[in-house]
This record gives sequence, structure tokens and C-alpha cells, in this order.
Amino acid sequence: WQNLDELTLSSHYATLPESWYHAIEPTPLPDPAIVSVNHMVAEQLHINPCSLDPHQLAAWLGGHTLPPGARPLAMKYSGHQFGVYNPQLGDGRGLLLGELEIDGERWDLHLKGAGQTRYSRMGDGRAVLRSSLREYLVGEALTHLGIPSTRALAVCVSSQKIQRERVELAATILRVSRCHIRFGHFEHLYYTRQFDGLKQLADYCLDRYYPDCQSADNPYLAMFQHISQRSADMVAGWQAYGFLHGVMNTDNMSILGETFDHGPFAFIDRWKENAVYNHTDQEGRYAFDQQPDVIHWNLSALAQALTPLVPVDDLKAALEQFPERYAAAYQQRMSLRLGLATSQPGDDELIRHWRDLLNQHQADYNPLYRALSEAQQSDDGQPGLNHLDLAPWQTMLNDWLPQYQQRLQQETCNAETRRHAMLAVNPAYTLRTHVAQHLIDRAEEGDYQPLNDWLTILQNPFDEHPGFEQWRRAPDTRGLVMLSCSS
Ligand code: AMP
Ligand code: MG
Ligand code: MG
Repeated sequence: WQNLDELTLSSHYATLPESWYHAIEPTPLPDPAIVSVNHMVAEQLHINPCSLDPHQLAAWLGGHTLPPGARPLAMKYSGHQFGVYNPQLGDGRGLLLGELEIDGERWDLHLKGAGQTRYSRMGDGRAVLRSSLREYLVGEALTHLGIPSTRALAVCVSSQKIQRERVELAATILRVSRCHIRFGHFEHLYYTRQFDGLKQLADYCLDRYYPDCQSADNPYLAMFQHISQRSADMVAGWQAYGFLHGVMNTDNMSILGETFDHGPFAFIDRWKENAVYNHTDQEGRYAFDQQPDVIHWNLSALAQALTPLVPVDDLKAALEQFPERYAAAYQQRMSLRLGLATSQPGDDELIRHWRDLLNQHQADYNPLYRALSEAQQSDDGQPGLNHLDLAPWQTMLNDWLPQYQQRLQQETCNAETRRHAMLAVNPAYTLRTHVAQHLIDRAEEGDYQPLNDWLTILQNPFDEHPGFEQWRRAPDTRGLVMLSCSS
């Protein structure tokens, strides 16, 4: 364990070519105050919990002092936004401070909302409390559903007011991830025809993130295959749990397959396959049911950028494997949610039928999985279902339950084991949009307790949390609440 004031950062990215980043210090914010500290992330970083001095953290997050060894820099990248290539991107408000090495693993610390950089364009370099809290919370929500995501050590708020659709408070978050390299980093070097640099970046990524690929015939191809696999796993998690990312531009795609750059995301309340929440996405490019195809498209943009390093036919062949990789990952996730420990012919049909029902009835889907888990019970040693648990959904499930029950007969484990397994993958709580908004409203009034209570809930989403039951169901309002891209 290390004390907070003894942490020492190193900065490998700063040893890379100078044109790849803009070295710049954070612009201090007035009156920084810590809103929340994530003790689980602190533990992951081996920081002694007793040493998490809020004043020290506030000084870092407010940009007044830097952790020892930090060499803050804004990274240059580009990317495809809504299908259109934009060469002008880069960290416009976030700074990579450096990295911590713990037990041979390296963790980037990135301060988001730290002020303007060379890549800010028209932006103010800031982030508001609303979006910072949403990012902070969803990192935990996803991680604890087993969906890879960036996380954060802490959030801080300032007295500085900034203009979005309304005047809001400026905030920062200290993001923690093993990697801040995006598909767009590769695209930038490719489209500016810096092919030596492209190779240097690829070697850097192989060395740091994909060392096992180094012995492959073509290490770059092997790395691309790993990125494809991880991306398929990530999006399968999104689809199985009803998570909508909202802005799947290639500059928001991590080469580690982590959910990255959280903006107008949502967990769908009432199932709707073509849901769109981002109100700047008028064409529905990033609608819920499009997400796997968009990831595939984004991977093809990355593949294009790798053409100087890998034969085109090999990249094409790797891309063609994506639908299969995705389908397998999705079916595995869904099988677990439905309590199917074995894989049987016809499972994909059972899952498709289930999804059609969710869609047709616009079901509030997470409570339904929870009820399905609780309904598993033994009947003379035979797998059975307690229909009382499912009563509210009886009409919807009429057609499907016999098929499901028959399928359960093919399982080898008993109902009690299945019940436990299902309760461990089907959350009692998710980060619904109205929950996040409630926590934001309270935090804007200076009350951080509900937020910190929910941090614990989202870190233990499969447990019951007495007193919070009212938040388990979708709100009564019909229709979708649109989310703003402003942050
Ligand atoms: P995003 O839509 O969050 O992926 O952001 C797209 C680009 O805009 C990135 O290059 C960001 O760094 C930049 N950006 C977003 N918000 C701001 C801001 N308030 N100030 C400066 N740059 C920003
Ligand atoms: Mg972004
Ligand atoms: Mg963003």
C-alpha cells in the first residue's frame, strides 16, 4: 500500500514523438472540492484508504498541484464522427497526467475538464458536474456488470460557472484506465501519411497492451484480431444489458475494448431495439440495435489505418470474422442471463423469441430477468418455475415459458444452483437515466450522500438494497427521455 502523497507517476507517452501531443499544465479551477472518492479504484491502485486526503485530491483535480512525476499532456488523435472523417480532434479538455505502475500493470491517470489545449477548437476545455457524475457512475455500473469500462478515482466540483444549455458548475474527474489510445490515434497517423510513426505507435501498443501478439507471424494482424475480439465482447455486453453508448465515433473507441468516453449514454428503461437517446443523432446512426454493426464499421476504419502494416486481404479476413465473434459473445451473455449453463441447438432461437417479446411489449427488462431468476425452483427434483414470481409478465410470457421450461430440462444443474447463478448476473439495480438525474440534482444542491450511496449500490448491483426499491422499476413516463450531447 502506498500513501496518496507518495504516489509517483511516470510518463511513457511523453517519450514518444513530440508532435503526438501537446504538453500543457491544467488550468486551475477556483474552489475545487471533492464530491466523491471511489475507494474500490483506490484499492486497485494500492492507495492506502486512510491517506485519501480530500484536500490533496481536490488540489490535484482542481489543477492546482500535480501528483509527483506527472507530465501532463493532451493527446493528438483524429477519427470518424458520425461516419465523417474529422482530422481536427485531440484531447480538447482532458490531460494524461502520467501512469502508475502496480504489480507490473500500468494505469493511466487522466484529468478530464482540465482546461483548454491546442485541440480545444471552440471548446472551453471544461466539463460540467452533470456529465462528470454520469461518467463516474456509469464506469462503475458497467464494470460491475462485467462489461469493460474506464473508471475514475474521484470527482471534484468548482465554484466556476460555465455555459451549456444552461449555466452549470465546472467539474473534473480523474479517469483511470490502462489505456487512452483510441482507434483515432492510428487514423491520425495514417491519414497524415506518417507511416513510420504508425509503425512506432503499433509497436508501442504491442509492447504495452498486446505483448502476446509479438511472437505471431504478423504481430499487427494478431493485435487487430485481439482488438476485434475485445470489441465484440464489449458490445455483446452492451446488447445483453441494454446499454446504449450514444456517440460511437472512432475517436471514442479504445484499442483495449473498454467502454470509453461516456456522453449521452443510457440503460434502456423499456425495451426498444431501435432506441436513440442522443438528440443530435437524428438519423439514428447510433441506435441501440445498430451498435454491433457500428463497432464492425469502426473496426474497418481501424483496419484501413493499419493497411501500411498488414496485407489488406488479411485485414479483410479478420473483419469478416466479426459477426461470428459477436454472435458467440452475445449468445454466451444471454445464456447466462437466462440461466442456461450448457449450450444446446435451438438456443439462439429461444433467445431471439425472448427478445421479440421484450420488444413487442416494451418490457422493463432488468426487473424481468430478476423475476425470472427468483422464479427458478425445484419441483420433485425437476426444474420448475414459480409462476407467482412471473405473474406481472404472465401474458407476455405465455408463449415463451413452455419453450423455456422445456429447455431447462436439458440443464444438468438443479434449480437452486441456477437461481444463484442467475441472481449473480441479473442486477437488482442499474443506472437508469432518472436515477442518475436524481443524483445530479441532489449533488448540484450540495448533497453528495445519495450519489455516494448509489456508488455502493452500483458496485454491488446484484445485492438487495433495502430502502432503494422505488428505483428498481422504470419511471412511469412513457417514451424516451432524450439526452444532450453537451457535457
Ligand atoms: P466527444 O464528443 O466527447 O467525443 O468530443 C469530441 C471532441 O471535442 C474531442 O476532441 C474533445 O476533446 C472535444 N471537446 C469536447 N468538449 C470540449 C470542451 N468543452 N472543450 C474543448 N474540447 C472539447
Ligand atoms: Mg471523445
Ligand atoms: Mg466525450
